[in-house]
Amino acid sequence: AKKEERGSIRFFEPEMDRQLREKRVMLHDLDLVLENKQLELHFQPQADPDGTPFGFEALVRWRHPEKGLVPPGVFVPLAEETGAIVAIDEWILRKACQEAASWPKPLSIAINVSPMSFQHNDLPGLIHSILLETGLNPKRLEIEITEGVLVQDFSRACSILRRIKNLGVRVAMDDFGTGYSSLSYLQSFPFDKIKIDQAFVAQINKNVQSSAIIRAIISLGEALNLGVIAEGVETELQRDFLADAGCFEMQGYLIGRPQPIAAYAGIVGRPPET
Ligand code: C2E
Ligand code: CA
Ligand code: CA
Ligand code: CA
Repeated sequence: AKKEERGSIRFFEPEMDRQLREKRVMLHDLDLVLENKQLELHFQPQADPDGTPFGFEALVRWRHPEKGLVPPGVFVPLAEETGAIVAIDEWILRKACQEAASWPKPLSIAINVSPMSFQHNDLPGLIHSILLETGLNPKRLEIEITEGVLVQDFSRACSILRRIKNLGVRVAMDDFGTGYSSLSYLQSFPFDKIKIDQAFVAQINKNVQSSAIIRAIISLGEALNLGVIAEGVETELQRDFLADAGCFEMQGYLIGRPQPIAAYAGIVGRPPET
């Protein structure tokens, strides 16, 4: 009743109420997401310039009973707010490693890990036990992290990453070029690979600056002996530019969309589903 007296505010409040209510419901549902077995992994191929896949990135989706397939861009930030992401990351790590270990072909598997898992989980210990559990060769596993992992407690993050590398697992820096200090992090931590952010790839041949930045990142990778992969490759023109510039690993809709692994049965060496 009081709301009605506050003039223009009255106009916006129902929408804000709705958004808050919606968020509260999502947060509640998120708490039960593992218990209710609502998470799914999709897999997106990573390939040579000629299109031959050498591995996959695991990308999580939430199969919500009412909302359908919720993308991680929507629920990962919420799960980071509540801390649910730590258990979710653990589930994803185990699930993706189990999946990869079951493939007839020894392709690589890249897995995203949130900054919060570095603070609230013993990742080296966890990865070590998952490798033992699944029998996955550590050489096939790659952990993708963003700058967010390093900004919190830099020296602690570095020592955790070093312990992960000591298991024989590779570490890649995701979304390279978009953060504030990507370059200084390269100086302080021996990453195995950098992943050129899709924002640069999308601007290839549209924007001189982006093309120049991509060339510079590739040279940097060569000079520092790092692998370089480009993500968000959607067109042949982008693929050809990247291959020309010396980037030999690619991921994007041109090669394949993230899909349930059954869609890629042939690639992992299983008989195709009938
Ligand atoms: P990311 O790690 O940078 O993943 C790349 C995103 O780009 C994915 O979105 C992928 O579906 C999308 N993508 C791939 N190829 C193309 C393309 O050719 N064009 C365009 N326009 N987009 C493409 P998705 O799956 O919605 O994931 C969004 C973000 O959510 C990821 O960004 C990552 O930060 C996070 N995420 C996804 N899976 C996980 C996970 O298992 N754990 C954690 N902690 N975060 C995850
Ligand atoms: Ca990623
Ligand atoms: Ca990325
Ligand atoms: Ca991203």
